Amino acid sequence: MERTSTPARAAGRADDAAVLADFLGNFRLLCSVPRPSGHEKAVCDLLQDWAADLGFAVRRNAAGNLLFDVPATPGLGHLPLVALQAHLDMVCVAREGTPFDPLSDPIVPVLDEETGVLSASGTSLGADDGAGVALIMSIAKGKLPHGPLRVLWTTDEEAGMTGAEAVTPGDLAGVKYLLNIDSEESGTLIVSSAAAALIVATAEPRMEAPAGDAALAVSLSGLRGGHSGMEIAKGRCNAIVALAGAIAEMREIIPFALASFAGGTADNAIPAKAVARIALAAKDRGAAVAFVADMERILRARYGDREPSLSLSIEEGALPPAVLAQPQSDAILAYVTESLDGVYSMSPDAEGLVESSSNLGLVAVGPDGVEIRQMPRGSVSARLEEIEVHQLALGERCGLAVAVEEKSRPWPVKPGSRLVAAIRAAYRRVNGTDMEVSGIHAGLECGAFAVLSPDLDIASIGPDILGAHSPGEKLLLPSVTKTWHLLETLLPSLG
Ligand SMILES: [Zn+2]
Repeated sequence: MERTSTPARAAGRADDAAVLADFLGNFRLLCSVPRPSGHEKAVCDLLQDWAADLGFAVRRNAAGNLLFDVPATPGLGHLPLVALQAHLDMVCVAREGTPFDPLSDPIVPVLDEETGVLSASGTSLGADDGAGVALIMSIAKGKLPHGPLRVLWTTDEEAGMTGAEAVTPGDLAGVKYLLNIDSEESGTLIVSSAAAALIVATAEPRMEAPAGDAALAVSLSGLRGGHSGMEIAKGRCNAIVALAGAIAEMREIIPFALASFAGGTADNAIPAKAVARIALAAKDRGAAVAFVADMERILRARYGDREPSLSLSIEEGALPPAVLAQPQSDAILAYVTESLDGVYSMSPDAEGLVESSSNLGLVAVGPDGVEIRQMPRGSVSARLEEIEVHQLALGERCGLAVAVEEKSRPWPVKPGSRLVAAIRAAYRRVNGTDMEVSGIHAGLECGAFAVLSPDLDIASIGPDILGAHSPGEKLLLPSVTKTWHLLETLLPSLG
């Protein structure tokens, strides 16, 4: 395929079948060994041997990352060094009832020849990011023209990004452009991603005997939940924050103390359910029940179509032996209701892109402890810091110890990026239309690379993947050839 000067579009699609056959061969090889995050040894061994057989000098670091250089196609040795990067691990999940051990069972890809849809038999497919790895394998085999390349395959992207974090300035020495192949829309070029932090508020519970003689459990449930980055701007109801707000309002007219407060399933998921157990005087029970019924109507009206199954309910409970002392009970409700939650700022550079946000994802309050966890995100460090400062001050005011931990790095937009311009030009040449340019409000490995060298020019692309991280994950093969033709036009053009 010596077509360094001919656009892929003009050359037609006669070679698409060959491109796909090679890609699928690579992809099936990846599927043959289990590769959940943190268990990449088998796939690292496999690919280290694969690359060594092709004559590449492969390096493997302590994190299990694989690196090797691919010499330029003859005549293109003058081009700058480009890093092609993808991650080796995948999220392994199975449909209910499908027997599947992610540590020992291979992924079984199933191709629908009619539609060109690749999925897996009852499990996630691992096209995120096996598709990126398989595309790079085809390129390393010399299936398209390119300048000097450095292949970088990282581990543990889906769990802790420890692979990307272990990449050193030396690993990227001499690299001018870094192309991350881990995006999920072939028509969209990703140019920034968000950092995440963890803010954890804790306190020693101060318990005392309940003053009242009745107990109630107030539950907010039936909510949509969702990804705390990608779905934070959809205006969904945060079960923990909304329930705390509802009962804090009730507290203004009915005295009660919290016995416990629990909700959420993960730091990075919008909580869909929360329950507060309270102790109060039996004479106030009727008023509490009426208040909750009113509040359910108010919440339903407030969220409408965004939360069609919202339910706020109240039921009798057994009187707990101890409740939180009144000042601490009130302070915890104040901390939750006054926390920054949801979208904090929108990007001034990209329309519709969330610049910073926070998600109060987990609360566990009771006699065993007090812990309130939230995950702020931001593509701009200053916004992230504003959220952290707010929470630190709020914690101090409410008598909670607040700790902040950085989880991942931001990848800010690089003004005047030559790589972005070259990708857009190549895309237009291949497809005749403009590629959408966007950022994502979640973490990408690019943040770990951007921090290593401010001069490094980074972009992220990839074929169309639907339902990543789920048993319904699909890879659309026509978008694989589309991405291939983009790379085929782009790589020889990168001056
Ligand atoms: Zn991925």
